[in-house]
Amino acid sequence: MRHFAIPLILLLAWLQPPTAAAAEKMTTHAFDAARKKMVATQIRSRGVSDPAVLRAMETVPRHLFVPEKLRAHAYEDRPLPIGFGQTISQPYVVALMTQLLDLPKASRVLEVGTGSGYQAAILSHIAKEVFSVEIVKPLHARSKQTLEEAGCANVASIHRDGFFGWQEHAPYDAIIVTCAAESVPPPLVQQLKIGGVMCIPVGPPFRVQNLLRITRKAENDIKTEVITQVRFVPLTRQ
Ligand code: SAH
Repeated sequence: MRHFAIPLILLLAWLQPPTAAAAEKMTTHAFDAARKKMVATQIRSRGVSDPAVLRAMETVPRHLFVPEKLRAHAYEDRPLPIGFGQTISQPYVVALMTQLLDLPKASRVLEVGTGSGYQAAILSHIAKEVFSVEIVKPLHARSKQTLEEAGCANVASIHRDGFFGWQEHAPYDAIIVTCAAESVPPPLVQQLKIGGVMCIPVGPPFRVQNLLRITRKAENDIKTEVITQVRFVPLTRQ
């Protein structure tokens, strides 16, 4: 009898249905695995090699930044809708743009188009301070909350038209614009440090745009490089 007692207890423990906490843990585990795979197959394989960028992409839980009903798709190779006609960018585009900024240590970055807050979260793992502006008020409110929940304490965000940047915290080491402008907004160039870099999609709305890297070489000397073709939602005006 004594010999059967212990295996029976073990069997009963094994048959217990998983608790909510265990289920939660399994889900987190699955998301972690999907994120690792995303970095290997979508980002590293396409040539993004900056260790800080790869680490941030491996760390930030992208699923927290997409609408709940789309979480199962969070690590797929595509943008996803976030409401209000806006999208969270494809993971590779986020990684590529972040790498293009070539952020110095202890840098201060401005983002135009907070959207879900995901790009700001990635930047927050690399830069010292991130300032992000969003023109759609409910997106601003929601992303602020998500960024807090994700523990991104070095991100400040505000609801305003990013065409004018965020003058109070200028100049910036880098500026990233995650909506497509028809031309480069002059206030953004003015808010860039000498030697600073801006990454911005420029072109017609809802069509193919050029992803530009702009380097402010001197007060009035701008170098512009076309990096690739992209398709972003348009920069709108208030
Ligand atoms: N970086 C975002 C991508 C959001 S899509 C993310 O990681 O999820 C682009 C965002 O730019 C949208 O949320 C849109 O509302 C915002 N946007 C468009 N025009 C803007 C403007 N003039 N100022 C600030 N934000 C703007």
